[in-house]
Amino acid sequence: MNNPYLLLTPGPLSTSDTVREAMLKDWCTWDKDYNELVQEIRARLLALAAPGSDKYTAVLMQGSGTFSVESVISSVIPRAGGRLFVACNGAYGERIAEMAAILNIPVLVYRENEQTMLNPDTIDKLLKQNPDITHLAVVHCETTTGMLNPIEDICRTAKKHGIVSIIDAMSSFGGIPIDIESLQIDFLISSANKCIQGVPGFGFILAKKSELEKCKGYARSLSLDLYAQYETMEEHEGKWRFTSPTHVVRAFHQALKELEAEGGIKARNMRYTENQNKLVLGMKELGFHALLRKENQSPIITAFLYPEVQSFTFTSFYGKLKKQGFVIYPGKISEKDTFRIGTIGEVYPEDIDRLLTAVAAVSKDAEKQLI
Ligand SMILES: *Cc1c(COP(=O)(O)O)cnc(C)c1O
Repeated sequence: MNNPYLLLTPGPLSTSDTVREAMLKDWCTWDKDYNELVQEIRARLLALAAPGSDKYTAVLMQGSGTFSVESVISSVIPRAGGRLFVACNGAYGERIAEMAAILNIPVLVYRENEQTMLNPDTIDKLLKQNPDITHLAVVHCETTTGMLNPIEDICRTAKKHGIVSIIDAMSSFGGIPIDIESLQIDFLISSANKCIQGVPGFGFILAKKSELEKCKGYARSLSLDLYAQYETMEEHEGKWRFTSPTHVVRAFHQALKELEAEGGIKARNMRYTENQNKLVLGMKELGFHALLRKENQSPIITAFLYPEVQSFTFTSFYGKLKKQGFVIYPGKISEKDTFRIGTIGEVYPEDIDRLLTAVAAVSKDAEKQLI
């Protein structure tokens, strides 16, 4: 099966042939075989996040990743007496703050510049000053820049203040080890089409059962009601409330098996890290500099500054790389001109070598045009 290009994006990303092949059958949405598959997926997700623990549950939710974030934000904060704290240094953090505003949830936003790491001491101070805060939401890998926020310290701070923690680990779960139990994370959100390497169509929430069970009746939406979805999946053993993306679920099951065959999250993290290291070094040699310092950078996606060449335009660079079989991603920050290259998905160090060769050829081409 030939793909037109390799996706070097933060998702949807390049998947394996076998993941795509898993979608070639039609499945009934309430049949026992299908529900068993859903139950197995839930169990496998828990085994990845909290092995051996019985304190957590996995709930799958239709839609793109944002729907799952909105499901949590709209379902877990009590209608009276709740106040959300959002720690934010990029577009995905802003999106959570925007959701809270639309849902009329009282919210306090702590903002840092997109290139600045969130500061756990500042969070501690703000939580001390605002004892009415009940929930904290933060993005793990801020895909806007590729910044990896210090969720270990942030989760510890939240717990010190007795606050429920919500982690948007959309672009990191499956690619970066996260010990959900020792961090006492209450709700962790991710989606099918990122580091698990499935295709788009649903997201999932790993929730501490004791917290989720408090949330009956809190939902501000019918279809995104997290508690109701959990209740149905539990009582009817793998049933979703409404039509589920059956083909996508099948592909996800295959993707989970492939993650295990690769050696689990640690092994995948090593591959992504190798991809990213190779990318940054190679791009530097070609005159492209990463936006972030190495210590703030995730292995997931890297933002590069536009080169200081007058003739550089993203559109032309993108188009030429696409012709050579690579799709990269535009930038998303306001202060500087950047583009992004993802290093997740069915992407290997050899692919990064091929990409670097293509970037070198495209850059040479551009130089010639200047002369
Ligand atoms: C991808 C992503 C999302 C969800 O995006 P969708 O386009 O709705 O799938 C949310 N948060 C982060 C950090 C992401 O990387």
